[in-house]
Amino acid sequence: MASSVACLCGSIDLTVQLDTATDHTKLQLCHCQQCRRNVGQLYSSYYLLQCKPPTFKGLQEYQQSNHITRFFCETCGAHVFAHLKSGGRFLVASGLLVTQIPSVREIEHWKTSDTGDGGLSAYLPGSESTIAGCRLDASKLPESSHWEPTNLQSEAKEQYLHANCLCGGVDFYITKPDASSSQATSPWADLLVPYYSGSGANPDDVKWWLRDGDTKYLAGTCVCNTCRLSSGFPIQTWAFVPRSNIFNADGSPLKFNQGTLRRHNSSPGVYREFCGCCGATAFWHCDERPTLIDVSVGILQEKGARAEDWLDWAPSRVSFAEMAVQSDLIQLLEEGVKIFSDKRT
Ligand SMILES: [Zn+2]
Ligand SMILES: [Zn+2]
Ligand SMILES: [Zn+2]
Repeated sequence: MASSVACLCGSIDLTVQLDTATDHTKLQLCHCQQCRRNVGQLYSSYYLLQCKPPTFKGLQEYQQSNHITRFFCETCGAHVFAHLKSGGRFLVASGLLVTQIPSVREIEHWKTSDTGDGGLSAYLPGSESTIAGCRLDASKLPESSHWEPTNLQSEAKEQYLHANCLCGGVDFYITKPDASSSQATSPWADLLVPYYSGSGANPDDVKWWLRDGDTKYLAGTCVCNTCRLSSGFPIQTWAFVPRSNIFNADGSPLKFNQGTLRRHNSSPGVYREFCGCCGATAFWHCDERPTLIDVSVGILQEKGARAEDWLDWAPSRVSFAEMAVQSDLIQLLEEGVKIFSDKRT
């Protein structure tokens, strides 16, 4: 069946043919480290295509390994295609279909063993694939040398969280909440406010990003259209971190216009940053709320993919679920998030 594919900026607007021999109602999510760091999400998910896409215009190519190449929009960073060289097959990112979107009846998880804590699979009940490696790439990650921020006091070195995309171009770290963290302000309540109810304003300047006795940052899932179309995947996971707690790898305060970071101005005063080399989603931030930054969780390098020593995951609500295109998938996610949070309490 022919499906239209579009990204957030509109550079990518084409028609593809999904593979006719595959049951696309079983959505496959790969949680392997390569996928997470390459796309900046907690997983990647693709549909197999019947044949080669009609064009690669407007796409940036990233040679992930000898086996796989990924293609993302050079303007907005949306992941669009992956090419499996051994079989010569192409895949399309599951969040970019705008017509003929397969319904989701079943979830299959790959490589949750790479996550340490189950990653997003904890919120999405499904079966575990028997495939040992990621179908996208069975090769191992290159051994990365031990990383340490250079300009930190030694006692502070325990207290950082490294973030790094797959190509290494986006490289920064986050420090634990401190006195500066409550200096940040937000004109809005957290994004867990249902879009169509309540004003979403934050008149009392509640420091909602600080959680668990001010020891962790809030994190949550967002399924809005702009996150979907700018990442290529239907579920975006964000951590909300004050800018004062984010540092470049050399210890200097975070700057956006450096390294491989590329910016897409998605609406006036709103910025989405991604790696211009590998396409990993990195940040969302805006002029109206400059002191608080959304950090894409897939690039965080912690022993568990959900980084729960650092992040407190928002219970029982999926942001902008009312806007979701794949409502059956998002319903599974909402049910899964609820089961997860009920188990904890
Ligand atoms: Zn685009
Ligand atoms: Zn993978
Ligand atoms: Zn990168």
